[in-house]
Amino acid sequence: MKIAFIGLGNMGGGMAANLVKAGHQVNAFDLAEQARGAAKDAGCEVFHDLKEAVQGVEAVVSMLPNGGIVKAVYENDVVGHAPAGAILLDCSTIDVATAKEVTEAATKAGYEMVDAPVSGGIAAANGGTLTFMVGGTESAFARAEPILQGMGKAVIRAGDAGAGQTAKICNNMLLAVHMIGTCEAMKMAEKLGLDPQKFYEISSQSSGSNWSLNTYTPLPGVGVQSPADNEYQGGFATALMLKDLRLAMEAAENSDSAVPLSSRAASLYEDYSGAGNGALDFSSIIKTY
Ligand code: NAD
Repeated sequence: MKIAFIGLGNMGGGMAANLVKAGHQVNAFDLAEQARGAAKDAGCEVFHDLKEAVQGVEAVVSMLPNGGIVKAVYENDVVGHAPAGAILLDCSTIDVATAKEVTEAATKAGYEMVDAPVSGGIAAANGGTLTFMVGGTESAFARAEPILQGMGKAVIRAGDAGAGQTAKICNNMLLAVHMIGTCEAMKMAEKLGLDPQKFYEISSQSSGSNWSLNTYTPLPGVGVQSPADNEYQGGFATALMLKDLRLAMEAAENSDSAVPLSSRAASLYEDYSGAGNGALDFSSIIKTY
């Protein structure tokens, strides 16, 4: 297929390269010259004008920083410029309301569109092992799925427009809560004199078992290998966790949902990121205990 890819950053760069490896012809666009250069090296055709990049394509994929940018890009340069009948896939993490609004505008103009945010970080984007959670009609999903398969290991339809973003922010809100709960339990066990490795052994096989403890143990030298063993470099940056928690808090307010634990987790990450730790892996919040 001929596919336009917009946003060739940490995530999008690897994803566009994987579409090339999957046999697609990729028209790549980014505002940053460095990102365009890397995409060229990966076999994409690079464009300096987005309206030109979407000419004659069968699909448009975007991986952009936030909802405002996604809305502007689709409104100004994609809708009405990509061929009618092209399938549009936004893989960025953005707020549910904007995802629905952009899809509605695209649908009115005759396009099919899905929101398809991802689980998995830069390594998964490079390795083609992302999980996509997809919101859109059955028909849009059927067209989007084979394209997403080229960049991921799992593609799941969550529901209609916006459902992909809903799944993503609810998942990451839960992740923040069980990471913080894991940090608190591990540090308290340690202060009470229990060897943290013993606590890991017991709790990871008991009812406290959870993903943060079992597969992402936040203390160095305890449990499995994780960013903790690499001074919290790499992994999932605190700043990105905070971005997702802010989106989750906005969605909680819009849907009148009670989220007392998650809002506490959001404010803990707000303080921790604000103290200059945004670039460290999110499990490093254990250092505050
Ligand atoms: P990034 O900042 O590395 O990349 C974003 C790219 O978009 C940049 O290259 C930037 O130049 C480009 N861009 C900005 N405005 C543009 C415009 N108007 N037109 C064209 N290009 C434009 O960010 P990232 O880490 O690749 O994240 C992208 C998205 O993926 C975000 O929504 C993020 O929340 C989500 N995400 C990131 C991770 C991660 O681990 N990095 C994991 C899951 C989801």
